[in-house]
Amino acid sequence: MSAPWLADIAARTLNAGLHREPVVRQAGATEINLASNDYLGLSSHPDVIAGAHAALDRWGAGSTASRLVAGTTQAHIDFENDLAEFLGFEAALAFSSGYLANVGAITALVGRGDLIVSDTGAHASLIDGCRLSRARVEVVPRGDADAVERVLAARSEERALVVTDSIYSIDGRIAPLREYYDTATRHGAIMLADEAHALGVRGPGGRGVAAEQGLSGAPGLVITTVGSKSLGAQGGIVLGTHLLREHLIDHARTFIFDTGLNPAAVGAAHAALRILRGDPQMPDRLRAGVRRLAAACGGGIPDAAVVSLIVGDPVAAVDAAALCREQGVFVGCFRPPSVPEGTSRLRLTVRADLDDADLDFVASVVTGALRRVEAA
Ligand code: PMP
Repeated sequence: MSAPWLADIAARTLNAGLHREPVVRQAGATEINLASNDYLGLSSHPDVIAGAHAALDRWGAGSTASRLVAGTTQAHIDFENDLAEFLGFEAALAFSSGYLANVGAITALVGRGDLIVSDTGAHASLIDGCRLSRARVEVVPRGDADAVERVLAARSEERALVVTDSIYSIDGRIAPLREYYDTATRHGAIMLADEAHALGVRGPGGRGVAAEQGLSGAPGLVITTVGSKSLGAQGGIVLGTHLLREHLIDHARTFIFDTGLNPAAVGAAHAALRILRGDPQMPDRLRAGVRRLAAACGGGIPDAAVVSLIVGDPVAAVDAAALCREQGVFVGCFRPPSVPEGTSRLRLTVRADLDDADLDFVASVVTGALRRVEAA
């Protein structure tokens, strides 16, 4: 018996003009890439590539098994220890992606009968962790610490977890981490903040928003971050106490049942971390570039590396992105379901390795493209 509903569900998105084809990046392309999350431009840095090569030569092409079985190398442990020390936490645990780190951490911390208070701006991986946990989930408006307070105060559950991005991934705005943390702590809740877009971008030497707001190593604070953005590689990392690390090893299903993070990715991320430590001004250079580009494009100055330019209509946003690409500027284009209806946008991520001339060229191409789609 055939299942015609498969064709039906696929056709629905196609017919609405909302199908999204993965955009193919060209190796060695001359275009300027502002669609990536390679904020520090480290994915192609020779030392980062050498770090990947060295780990590959030493440990092979794959980690060969789950971290618990045979998939942990000394490279994993060294990276975890150095990142924990850099960010001011007792311990770190690396997962094979940021997505899996978030899902694994949340589901290991709370379950049925517990409460999660989730910020509306939370990344999809946090949302999926909330859903999989089977805890009751209350969603609060973006950055609304009073709403967090109200939900925590009114709860009947003993255990509660507050989750948020520290830099909202869609528009690069900063969350009120300190207020969230203080509120969570007052109510005996744990706070989990995703610093994927903050590492290497904000805070002293790129240590993130938690460090900037005096929360490094704070009790009851769990940080997640990634190797796939500023560190130019891959991987997800959870930071907290030694006890938290041990708990995750025993209970995070995305750690236990997933093949360990690829050694080459570990070697690359670790090399990138060394570069960041050795050049603490890098995040400042990046943010100067962000201010320059955002001002030239007429957008508000964002808190991090993302310049988000709202177009509104999804087809117009796609057209504007295509016009940019024709002129050698590769920008991100976000449409529903990644963003709410009516807020389709171009998403530009600045990189520390772009100079003023690059950024001015990008601004002229992007503003020209936006004018053309508005006039159409
Ligand atoms: N958290 C945030 C805020 C993200 O933006 C992303 C990825 N875009 C992730 C987690 C997932 O990280 P990864 O790509 O390493 O799975």
